[in-house]
Amino acid sequence: MTIHQIRTKQPISINNDPWEAYTDIDMHNQLTLSNIEFTTTNLCNMRCSHCAVGYTLQTQDPDPLPMDIIYRRLDEIPHLKTMSITGGEPMFSKKSIKQVVKPLLKYAYDRGVYVQMNSNLTLPQDRYLDIAEYIDVMHISHNWGTLDEFATVGFGAMEKQPPLKAKLKLYDQMLNNAQTLSDQGMFISAETMLNQSTLPYLTKIHNEIVKDMKCSRHEIHPMYPADFASDLNVLSLKEMKQAIHQLLDMRDENTWMLFGTLPIYPCIKDDDDQALLHRLRQSKNVTMRNDPDGRNRLNVNVFTGNVIVTDFGDETGTISNIKHDNLPTVFDKWLNSSLAQSLNCHCPAFKCLGPNVLVKDMYYPTTNFKENEKRMHQLYN
Ligand code: SF4
Repeated sequence: MTIHQIRTKQPISINNDPWEAYTDIDMHNQLTLSNIEFTTTNLCNMRCSHCAVGYTLQTQDPDPLPMDIIYRRLDEIPHLKTMSITGGEPMFSKKSIKQVVKPLLKYAYDRGVYVQMNSNLTLPQDRYLDIAEYIDVMHISHNWGTLDEFATVGFGAMEKQPPLKAKLKLYDQMLNNAQTLSDQGMFISAETMLNQSTLPYLTKIHNEIVKDMKCSRHEIHPMYPADFASDLNVLSLKEMKQAIHQLLDMRDENTWMLFGTLPIYPCIKDDDDQALLHRLRQSKNVTMRNDPDGRNRLNVNVFTGNVIVTDFGDETGTISNIKHDNLPTVFDKWLNSSLAQSLNCHCPAFKCLGPNVLVKDMYYPTTNFKENEKRMHQLYN
């Protein structure tokens, strides 16, 4: 660790979102590997239909790789700024917490790296309190317009269904955990996907996140039709734009709202799109985030060592393995791949880094963003 300067962490705020890939462009003039996401367990007490890994969850974790190799691969990343810990439910398995999660948290703490944990926050509170000091962002999903939705979709990928009472207890626990941990100063960011199921309930969900759970941030991401979500209905672009306007109309302006993976870009010649972008830019406590997948982030599976570009792993598949490759080299190789080259555009005038592969496939299959980039550079440079 002595080889790295220890970073002093500034608090997360609308002016300091360490996961925003554009900050790496500002600092290093190019896309830079600064974020590693670790899949630390395949276990979870829930099985959400929308979970990126819901259908790959298991009942027992294999042995993880020795931490030494993981530390070495992290040490080799000169600009490591953020770490994301995901699963499964990272706080579910005590063995995984001890062998992997806590060592990673300690590594990040010692190096001044920001940590986000992706959790369902339904487990007993002491598990979360135990690691609270190491967590910069506790990221949870809240897509539950009704209790019935939670009981159905939250366990949609589970073969043997638990009793309804047990499911609802987890919902109460999530609300209670969020409220208590927020009160104690934890930064909880609740993400809602825009899809046909959440659309009728956006006001209720937002109010619950802000008022009952007291979360510090409400994240909004569209749902994309990757395999794992194939039985949930995506919104048309028009419905999505209306939903965002609706959210902006009714939201609590004192709570930070982050819109990520938005399928709306400065180069798209559509007056409604541009009006919405303008509104988002002008709105109080609202930020938009470039998609980090493959822009500044790689995902590492701690059991296999496999490296993928996005947690929607089936889009690009495994691109390497940390047993034999260092991560900056893997990242450079990815950036030079034809898929990355076809996706990666950059318009400095708007700090835009273009769509990810899911957005492009879903909404802009025929758009040539490299051509758009050329036109934008002529117009704005
Ligand atoms: S970076 Fe790409 S998506 Fe963004 S405005 Fe430029 S060409 Fe469009």
